[in-house]
Amino acid sequence: MDMDTSMNVITLIFLFMMGAATGSFACCQAWRWRYKIEKNKDLGKRSICLHCKYQLKWYDNIPIISWVLLGGKCRKCRKPIGAAEILSELGMGAAFALAGWAYLIPIINNWDILLSINAAAIYLKLGQMVGVLAILVVMGILAVYDAKWGELPVSLLIVSNVLGAAILACKELEMYVTGEDWIGGLYSAGFGVLILAGVCFMIYKVSHERLMGGGDWILALAIALALGDWWLSLWAMFLANLLGDLIMLPTVISTKNSVLHFGPFLVMAYIMVFVLGNALPVLITIDFLAF
Ligand SMILES: [Zn+2]
Repeated sequence: MDMDTSMNVITLIFLFMMGAATGSFACCQAWRWRYKIEKNKDLGKRSICLHCKYQLKWYDNIPIISWVLLGGKCRKCRKPIGAAEILSELGMGAAFALAGWAYLIPIINNWDILLSINAAAIYLKLGQMVGVLAILVVMGILAVYDAKWGELPVSLLIVSNVLGAAILACKELEMYVTGEDWIGGLYSAGFGVLILAGVCFMIYKVSHERLMGGGDWILALAIALALGDWWLSLWAMFLANLLGDLIMLPTVISTKNSVLHFGPFLVMAYIMVFVLGNALPVLITIDFLAF
């Protein structure tokens, strides 16, 4: 490995670890919120086992590693910690590393060249990256919360929409300073909102909240804004439904009157579409510019 490659690998590992820590934080935050609403009690500053109140030591709190070493069980009472913890740590780790691979590494490697071509565009691209990482954190908490308790906290929905709008603003500004068709981009984002949030809103209204909760279409709105593209939004809609059907169908068939929690699938679809549809073209464009 040459110097550049090993630096890239180190950056990716670092981002994965940051993501895993964020996933762990997202899960803890979800629990804290719930505990406060349900029992009107504070969980305190230190993490505890929810079954036996055992206060976790620092070595019980290392993302992924602790979960694997403990076999997903509490050190003291051996009751299960839960799958959401490990899934959100792995998922966030992967999402951070992929976002870094698509945005950060191409920019770092070609910093001087890109800076001389269009400095404003580079800063706006970095702005999008920061926005995406922030929205991933908020969506991580929302996904865990929805999976566990079937609700989406309103305050987090508002934050995710503000972040989605900020990402779109950076993207539109970048198109403007690079002389791309930013008005066309705005139309595309608008159609994306109609497709993703509009359809979710209609399902929510028509099914009387059975297939889609009131928070789902607001989360879909944040995702459509963050994607800023009608074609990507259509894919997100398709993937969220596909994942939801594949994973939830066995449960829906076996239990009557079950309500489908769509939030986690929307978030999963966002990450997949963001990586496959949005980040890959960015990588190719930058390689093309640089060589
Ligand atoms: Zn315990």
